[in-house]
Amino acid sequence: MWYRWRLGELPAERDSNHGAMRLGEGEAVMAGHAGGIPLPEGVGNATGNDESFMEHALALARAARDAGEVPVGAVVVKEGKIVGRGFNAPIGTHDPSAHAEILALRDAARHLGNYRLPGCVLYVTVEPCAMCAGAIMHARLARVVFGARDLKTGTCGSVLNLFAEPRLNHHARVTGGVLAQECAALLSAFFCARRKGGAGAGGAPPL
Ligand SMILES: [Zn+2]
Repeated sequence: MWYRWRLGELPAERDSNHGAMRLGEGEAVMAGHAGGIPLPEGVGNATGNDESFMEHALALARAARDAGEVPVGAVVVKEGKIVGRGFNAPIGTHDPSAHAEILALRDAARHLGNYRLPGCVLYVTVEPCAMCAGAIMHARLARVVFGARDLKTGTCGSVLNLFAEPRLNHHARVTGGVLAQECAALLSAFFCARRKGGAGAGGAPPL
């Protein structure tokens, strides 16, 4: 199932103050969701640094692409410094859990010598899946910032919103849509190349 991202319909509108898509307005642009996507609870505005850190995540996504993996990248930031990096690598590592977020969390935990990452922010180019949302909660991250939505597996409001589930005991704040078009364009180009049988074709399904 290669065509999970409906990339052509990603929002162009950005918050004039912060450069981030206002998620509550997504219903106008999300194909196949004529009824609109509910505004996730706790979704906040981007900060001035969010785009800068997302650029680092995008660079890692390009590294994934160059390795023949679905281009998703992630960084973990603590007190303004990157302490963990990861890019999507399930095909090359034969590891279904090797999503960019998981690898970035592991890298940060090793770096900080702590399996919990309080006060840290995860930047990831695509909305996290349920597995990664679980890891984010176990790590006690303070905040998650993502780029493009994933309408098939996203758990920050696209399919469901685990970060607004009151029965779960930890809630990271979530900001979505930071550099969304750039993040989505990377995926779109990757899958377009796949459809044409280009470099890296013939691998396993994404995510
Ligand atoms: Zn994931």
